[in-house]
Amino acid sequence: MSERAGQSQGLGKSKTDELVFMALGGLGEIGMNVYLYGYGPANARSWLMVDLGVTFPHDSEPGADVVLPDLRFIVAERKNLVGLVLTHAHEDHVGAVIDLWPSLECPIFATPFTAGMVNTKLGEYGRTLSLPIKEVPLSGRFKAGPFDVEFVSMAHSIPEPNGLAIRTPAGLVFHTGDWKLDPTPVVGKPHDEARLKSLGDEGVLAMVGDSTNAMREGRSASETDVAKTLKKIIADAPRCVSVTSFASNVARVASIAEATRACGRTLVVAGRALHRIIEVAIETGYLPKSFTYLDQQRFSDLPRDKIVVLCTGSQGETRAAIARIAEDEHPDISLDKGDLAIFSSRTIPGNEKAVGRVQNALARLGVDVITDAEAPVHVTGHPRRDELRDMYAWLRPKIAIPMHGEARHLKEHAKLARACGVGETFTIVDGEMLKLWPEPAAVIDEAPVGRLYRDGNLIVPDVEGPVKARRKLSFVGIAVVALALSRRGEVLGEPGVVLEGIPAADSEGESMHEIALDAIDGTLRSIPPKRRGDLVMVQEAVQRAVRSAINEAWGKKPVVKVLLSVVEAR
Ligand SMILES: [Zn+2]
Ligand SMILES: [Zn+2]
Repeated sequence: MSERAGQSQGLGKSKTDELVFMALGGLGEIGMNVYLYGYGPANARSWLMVDLGVTFPHDSEPGADVVLPDLRFIVAERKNLVGLVLTHAHEDHVGAVIDLWPSLECPIFATPFTAGMVNTKLGEYGRTLSLPIKEVPLSGRFKAGPFDVEFVSMAHSIPEPNGLAIRTPAGLVFHTGDWKLDPTPVVGKPHDEARLKSLGDEGVLAMVGDSTNAMREGRSASETDVAKTLKKIIADAPRCVSVTSFASNVARVASIAEATRACGRTLVVAGRALHRIIEVAIETGYLPKSFTYLDQQRFSDLPRDKIVVLCTGSQGETRAAIARIAEDEHPDISLDKGDLAIFSSRTIPGNEKAVGRVQNALARLGVDVITDAEAPVHVTGHPRRDELRDMYAWLRPKIAIPMHGEARHLKEHAKLARACGVGETFTIVDGEMLKLWPEPAAVIDEAPVGRLYRDGNLIVPDVEGPVKARRKLSFVGIAVVALALSRRGEVLGEPGVVLEGIPAADSEGESMHEIALDAIDGTLRSIPPKRRGDLVMVQEAVQRAVRSAINEAWGKKPVVKVLLSVVEAR
């Protein structure tokens, strides 16, 4: 018996111990990944958190900058939270750490590039917060409470994507993180196939795995294929070339820089996110110390056909470099007729309109646009079905739990896992607590989950929060009524009405303002003065009357607020 196994047993298994898994985000959606593993008796479990990410708001969440997971379940249990492990540095896995770690205060474990990215972002916020990040080397191993965690190198679309072999007294769970198989990833090491196979030999109780591409047959192409395509397109381009890509894809940055050099051009970098990632990648050895590029101010110093501009904004973000260039509003860089704009990226579902706007604006300037629909200028970072089949053949888990997917991805992934011989699959949703051990595996409990918003400088709740109110206002507008009554119930002066987001007149041309005033007047007259002392009743009656009068004229019920003040009659 190895020393480590001995230690593991030394932790002891008692009759009441259980191993459970659940998500506070990431099951049933792509984004906002937060997973929890719990070990111990039901009333005294130790918890290990894996990832703490954000997602982007829908159109129905107006004004929210970013969506964060509601952690109230684990905040209540935080004295039993033994650590937070970060699998890789994508925002959907680490984006909530800075905002939400203060409510957890647990140790954080990450490999050097991921730690560097989080710390650099923290520095840019200028906050006094310091995060206790313990750097673990690639393929490193650490202990946190009853969990013995090993980082296993995978391939993806950012440096240092890690799977986690989580050993507990109940057995080994493999948490894949985001992954693909890529023997030639341009930057970093390929996936560690030998280690994955040896984990399979050791015995895997459960695999919790990436479902993003579970509906796509075949294998994902290699990052090296993209590098070749980009080099060819840039070599053939007669004029200025811009390439827009996910800033965090360091391999893509390296490929674009290499194509630029090979074509005798100079790389110009536009966008803060790219400067940040290049800096961290040089520090951690993923780009050479000799990596050279010019800042955007130097654009006009060079002949246009000798430049490649690397830009942020692949998702149509309005303030990013390519959007400002497309609108001809960038302070330093301009593109025009005959120039080429390559989108070396995928449009994340939900961003199609925003990306379309940028591409149309470029087309209006006469710029040629190439996306992954025209040429293989992008590859996915997630496993297609043949790669999933390989993984199941190597690991041979008893249980498969699809994660990182919408409902349809999770369902297809579970079906594929069963076809690969996995005995049990569970497609659970956020908040469902799945007992993995002792047998039989089953959903045994449910925890509260939800969404929070970063709204300006504040974090606000979704249910009954301001974002929900703004959504309602965006559909129906608001009417504000101001009334003054004397103690004896007489109406003092004229009621005031302000309408926002409501049409000015009905179909016959009658002013909506007058319609509201008539409704207020009629209501007040219908209430005898001695009953007007019941302010709440008056307020509600006026509110109902104004809403229904405007509804009759417009066909929509606005939000109505009544401000009622009682004034001493003189
Ligand atoms: Zn990722
Ligand atoms: Zn992800």
